[in-house]
Amino acid sequence: MTYDDNNIFAKILRGEIPCKKIYEDNFVLSFHDINPQKKIHALVIPKGKYIDLDDFSEKASSDEIVGLIKGINIVAKKLKISVDTGKGYRALANINEHGGQEVPHLHFHLFGGEKIGKMVE
Ligand code: AMP
Repeated sequence: MTYDDNNIFAKILRGEIPCKKIYEDNFVLSFHDINPQKKIHALVIPKGKYIDLDDFSEKASSDEIVGLIKGINIVAKKLKISVDTGKGYRALANINEHGGQEVPHLHFHLFGGEKIGKMVE
């Protein structure tokens, strides 16, 4: 599978589509999900062109991998859901068909602000 440059998150990264930005650095962009499933529902995406977590694990540099994981923590702190500033949260990545992934650019969902509940329906 090749990366689709026309996916919605690629357009957000290029600034062609607006987003409600939470945080940005050299490695990640974070913004609020357009259709929040919980009180807080943020997305954290790497800036590089990676389709999903497997693609990222295989091709991303060590700096990019560290940048994404650190980015999740920075965003959680900013949203006051991290363990030190809040009550915790759920980080989730859907991967491909069985994972229910709709947008083919790697993203982590961060759910928080309330109890998230059952892990899998
Ligand atoms: P997934 O099913 O894991 O691929 O999740 C894709 C997520 O992207 C869904 O939660 C959508 O609500 C969200 N989404 C789609 N378009 C946008 C957008 N333009 N801005 C913010 N979030 C979006």
